[in-house]
Amino acid sequence: MTEIEYKIYIDDVIRRVETARLKVSDHHIVKIVAISKYSTAKEIEKLYKIGQRAYGENKIQDLKAKKQELEEYPLEWHFVGNLQKNKINNFLDIHPALFHSLDSLELAQELQKKLEARGISLDALLQINSAKEESKHGVMPESACGIYAQITKECPNIHLKGVMSIGAHSEDKTIIKKSFDTTYEIYKSLKGATICSMGMSGDFELAIECGSNMVRLGSVMFNK
Ligand SMILES: *Cc1c(COP(=O)(O)O)cnc(C)c1O
Repeated sequence: MTEIEYKIYIDDVIRRVETARLKVSDHHIVKIVAISKYSTAKEIEKLYKIGQRAYGENKIQDLKAKKQELEEYPLEWHFVGNLQKNKINNFLDIHPALFHSLDSLELAQELQKKLEARGISLDALLQINSAKEESKHGVMPESACGIYAQITKECPNIHLKGVMSIGAHSEDKTIIKKSFDTTYEIYKSLKGATICSMGMSGDFELAIECGSNMVRLGSVMFNK
C-alpha cells in the first residue's frame, strides 16, 4: 500500500468510528488507541505520519523496545496486557500513559508499594471480565465497584480513570452487546470515571454504540 492508499484506508476506519459515535451523540468523543503488537516500528511510523499518536502494546519488552525505537516521535504509549508482579519494576521504568489492564486488588497493592517508593503515580483502568470467561483476566462484574472503590482508597498513587473490557468471545452479537452493556453500566456508576475502554477490530462499532469512548484497534489500523 502506498502512503496515499493507506491514508484513504485509515480515513475509512475513522469514518466507521464517526458513524458509530454519532449514533450515541454529537458530543460523544471516541479516542483510538492503535494496538501495535503485531506491527513493526516502521509500520507505526507510517501510521504516525498520517496522524495517529496513541499506541498500545500487550508485552512489557515490546512496549519498551518500540518506545525506545520511536523516541524521536511524540507518541503516547498504553499498556493493555497482563502485568505479572515480577515485571512491575520494568513496567514502571517505561512510564506508560495509561495502564488498561489492572485486574486485581493484589496487583494494585503491589503497584502502590513500588509507585510510592518511586514517588510517582500511574493512570490506570480496572479491567472487567464482563462475560465471566475462564480465559480472560479482570475482576468479576459484581465485585468491580467495590474493588474500584478500595483501590481508590488504598492506592493513592494509582489514579483510576475508568474501566476496560474485552468483548465476549462469541459469534452472537447479542452476547457481545451484553458484555459491553455490563461494562458500561459499571462505568456509569463510578464517580469520576472518564474512560470506558472497550472495542477491538472486530467489534468496535458495537462497543461505541454501547458507550465506549476508547477503542483499542490492532489489525484494522494496520490493515492486517
Ligand atoms: C490485541 C489486543 C487488541 C487489538 O486487537 P485487534 O483485534 O487486532 O484489534 C485490543 N485489546 C487488547 C487487550 C489486545 O490484547
